[in-house]
Amino acid sequence: MEQFDYLIVGGGLAAASAVDGVRSIDADGTIALLTEEEEPPYHRPPLSKEYLQTPGATRDLLYVKPEGWFEDEARVELLTGRRVVSLDPREMTVATGTDETYRAERILLAMGGRPRTLLIPGNDLDGVYTFRTVEDAERIREIAPKAETVVLVGAGFIGMELAASLTQYDVRSVVVEAEDRVWSRMLPPVLSYFVQGYFEERGVRFELGTRLEELAGEERVELVRLANGTEMPCDFAVFGVGIRPNEEIAGEAGLAVMDGVVVDRFGETSHGHIYATGDLARFPDPVFGDTVRTEHWDHARTHGKLVGRNMAGAREAYEHISYLYSDVFDLGFSVLGRPAQADDVRVVGELTADRSLILCGEHERLCGIVLINAADALESCRELLGRKPTLAEAVGELEEREGELEKVVG
Ligand SMILES: Cc1cc2nc3c(=O)[nH]c(=O)nc-3n(C[C@H](O)[C@H](O)[C@H](O)COP(=O)(O)OP(=O)(O)OC[C@H]3O[C@@H](n4cnc5c(N)ncnc54)[C@H](O)[C@@H]3O)c2cc1C
Repeated sequence: MEQFDYLIVGGGLAAASAVDGVRSIDADGTIALLTEEEEPPYHRPPLSKEYLQTPGATRDLLYVKPEGWFEDEARVELLTGRRVVSLDPREMTVATGTDETYRAERILLAMGGRPRTLLIPGNDLDGVYTFRTVEDAERIREIAPKAETVVLVGAGFIGMELAASLTQYDVRSVVVEAEDRVWSRMLPPVLSYFVQGYFEERGVRFELGTRLEELAGEERVELVRLANGTEMPCDFAVFGVGIRPNEEIAGEAGLAVMDGVVVDRFGETSHGHIYATGDLARFPDPVFGDTVRTEHWDHARTHGKLVGRNMAGAREAYEHISYLYSDVFDLGFSVLGRPAQADDVRVVGELTADRSLILCGEHERLCGIVLINAADALESCRELLGRKPTLAEAVGELEEREGELEKVVG
């Protein structure tokens, strides 16, 4: 059995950031990072954007750290191709699918999540995919130039970004969404309609308020059927219907799980020497006071680093207000808080693709801020949301800086 001071399970951005965190405090402790992927940690956001849009783009553009960094600079034992199958909190060990066992003083769970699919006929046909890894992106990059119609299931992050990126290949994207508007978990209705129009002008078709009922074909998908009776040909389909946190190992080990591994403000699970971070962790939200699990690049980076520091002996509470971003066509979105639950929406000037700031309120409190092509305002808006002002106070402050805010409905 191999023994380390720190063991990190999972090899995404949160895991890589945790290494930074540990090393910022403990220069000498031994660290092992076990990941089931064959690649060292890489960034996922470009997969549905630049990497997909650029035939021939190479993997080195995605890596979180330069080649050799883990081994040479951070002195981490980087163990790729290792799937962890169990955790023993009493012994502080993990076991892999190939019966290797590792022991450590501190263990970090950073296994992220895996894509969901829909349990419908034809979901296992060739040409029906999910989208999370570099291999997934490369596969779509290869088949897209030969395809005419792609069906994207879900108008969330993945569906919307793929629809925008695939216009590059002259493939017709049809987005099927059960809700009656796009990005309904991220945006208030008025912004959903704005985005939908923007996509439609660029050739994307939406089938909203209906469900995908069946994917049909001999071996490979050829046709899809929707609940509203629509049938359409389909060269390939991609599910973008959310992820399931990889929490089973933690649950079986007796740690508290609730759609994610539950951690406190320091990233500790219900077992004091085991931590969790990134897409996997459910943590106390510094603004809203409840617990939340987020799937943001900025959170994986910041929380991962803080938890790494705490494993190495710091005791720092997570107060960071993370944001999520998305780039679709030439719209750069930065989203803070929970704009989707707004009952009152104010826009600086007009809602345009050039530069827009949108304040969202719920029960007269500021609950979220959306920036379109206005990332320069991110830090001041983050700070504003962190002060938990009323919507009126937030409007007053922003008007002083940016000019008049219009109330919008929809
Ligand atoms: C295509 C795509 C585009 C995105 N775009 C954006 C964006 O524009 N903006 C934004 O804010 N966020 C975006 N995100 C979300 C962001 O990338 C994630 O929040 C972030 O990657 C989470 O990092 P993580 O390290 O927690 O998890 P992951 O990146 O999922 O890493 C977890 C790792 O653990 C490994 N693993 C899982 N189980 C085991 C096991 N049992 N044993 C060993 N290893 C295991 C996995 O294989 C994986 O390598 C995007 C995500 C995807 C997939």
